[in-house]
Amino acid sequence: MNPSIPYLDLPAQMRGIRRDIDAAIARTLDQCSFCLGPDVAQFEKDFARYCGAEHCVGFNSGTSALHIAMLLLNVGRGDEVITTPMTFVATSWAISYVGAKPVYVDIDDATFGLNPALVERAITPKTRAILPVHLYGHPVDLDPLLAICRKHNLPLVEDAAQAHAAKYKGRGVGTFGEISCFSFYPGKNLGAYGEGGGLVTNNAAYAARARALREHGSTRRYYHDEVGFNYRMEGIQGAVLGVKLKHLDQWTRERRRVAKRYHELLADTPLQLPREADYAQSAYHLYVVRHPRRDDLKQHLEANGVGCALHYPLPLHLQKCYAHLGYKAGDFPVAEKAARECLSLPIYPELTEEQILRVAEVIKSFFAGK
Ligand SMILES: *Cc1c(COP(=O)(O)O)cnc(C)c1O
Repeated sequence: MNPSIPYLDLPAQMRGIRRDIDAAIARTLDQCSFCLGPDVAQFEKDFARYCGAEHCVGFNSGTSALHIAMLLLNVGRGDEVITTPMTFVATSWAISYVGAKPVYVDIDDATFGLNPALVERAITPKTRAILPVHLYGHPVDLDPLLAICRKHNLPLVEDAAQAHAAKYKGRGVGTFGEISCFSFYPGKNLGAYGEGGGLVTNNAAYAARARALREHGSTRRYYHDEVGFNYRMEGIQGAVLGVKLKHLDQWTRERRRVAKRYHELLADTPLQLPREADYAQSAYHLYVVRHPRRDDLKQHLEANGVGCALHYPLPLHLQKCYAHLGYKAGDFPVAEKAARECLSLPIYPELTEEQILRVAEVIKSFFAGK
């Protein structure tokens, strides 16, 4: 009997760092600094430095950080933001929360990222920003997008929720846009033990306003300069993230090791494998393969104890919540095909060679037995 391989294995990661985590949390408890506080402030400094940015503002989720990014750019009712339909829905929530309209553009078939060649024709006088996603940890092609932004005087916001430690042309993502947003949800490459998010920017005015907005719109307690939110990062999450950040580079190397092995082992199967663009160093948040018989393959993997998942089965333009936008099936054929064919295999730093071999073996048995 083969042991099953979970799609995600958070306990495996925790085992390696448990002592440091316990000590860090104990420190937070001793200080009773539960909301923001010194551990969050320290993590903000460390993460900003890690990204090569001036400022990081900690949030209670990546979704909150994205929401605030839209407010900082004064995106509001009647405005449009160009974004991708192939992402986790929170990318679009940010646009919707401020009353603006997501305008979708199809993705690039190879990288699953917003296709720069299609962006310019989607720009209208109402366009206020471009919001691409470094999906699955693979950077979107930033230079052509930035050229379009410069030409039309539009800000770029990076949704880097899946891409901590990913590199574009040798430089870490998160510093290319006016603002970049990260998620520290537990399953992300850098995950808290609860919810968390971060807004990264080189703009001091944005950072200051973001700090006020996350704390009820105040810089001085009980004086509220604008309508704000309770979007603070918890002290314990700051402490956990501070411990985990020290491991991020090593964990990313391990993810890349797993991806390389999958690539070698699955090269001669009918699967379409993820490929790094020549400008990219992916953080491999996910390892997403493609096949027209995806649903059968998923069943086969699960029947053989290999966890897998779909990211994402339905593009955003076809979601019920966005029916009012008036999109229909066929509008973004590349995204729709990707949604039908994508299958995420287990990938995490602790995945062993033995487990990788087993995943490959189960995949090969599917194609051998068809
Ligand atoms: C996870 C994620 C978010 C939202 O982050 P939360 O911390 O879960 O709110 C936003 N965008 C993308 C692409 C994500 O993967």
